[in-house]
Amino acid sequence: MIILIDMDDVMADTSERFYSVLRARYPDNPEFKVDRTHFHIKDEYTPESLNLVEAVLYSPEFQLAIPPVPRSLESVTEINNRGHHVIFCSTPHEVYETCVAQKYKWLEAKLGRTYARKLILTDDKTLIFGDRLIDDKPEIKGLITPSWEHVLFIRNYNCHVQGKRRMDWSNWREVLVEL
Ligand SMILES: [Mg+2]
Repeated sequence: MIILIDMDDVMADTSERFYSVLRARYPDNPEFKVDRTHFHIKDEYTPESLNLVEAVLYSPEFQLAIPPVPRSLESVTEINNRGHHVIFCSTPHEVYETCVAQKYKWLEAKLGRTYARKLILTDDKTLIFGDRLIDDKPEIKGLITPSWEHVLFIRNYNCHVQGKRRMDWSNWREVLVEL
């Protein structure tokens, strides 16, 4: 099978890094004391806080220092070793200059160059062929009806989503039984 795997908050623990930087830098900002409840950060913060958030997210140092989501690296290696094709499928944020090369470098640092070359960057994941897409985004839309089944990667901001299989790296073997 072709297994498409999102990067931010599925492979890379972007939220973990995001909050650790923001809380260290702005310890008194009440908006950063609790984890976000929306997938899109623009829906979460006041314009003043959003400026601070974007300065962190779009800084060149941000991406490479993101820790992996616990058990993500071992799980991906196991999926690959079971004979499936792992393809990373990620949408760069709009300030792409500070994240495109860094996404490749992050994968190379964590999993090696062979895995880094399996990265597809796209704004529309429906255009990418696959059997499963593991992604934390609640709803994934695009130009065409996707070939893949969206398996939701559990995060606190997507708990409300119904009608999809849900997994994280602790239970993926039970959820993706067909693998
Ligand atoms: Mg994501």
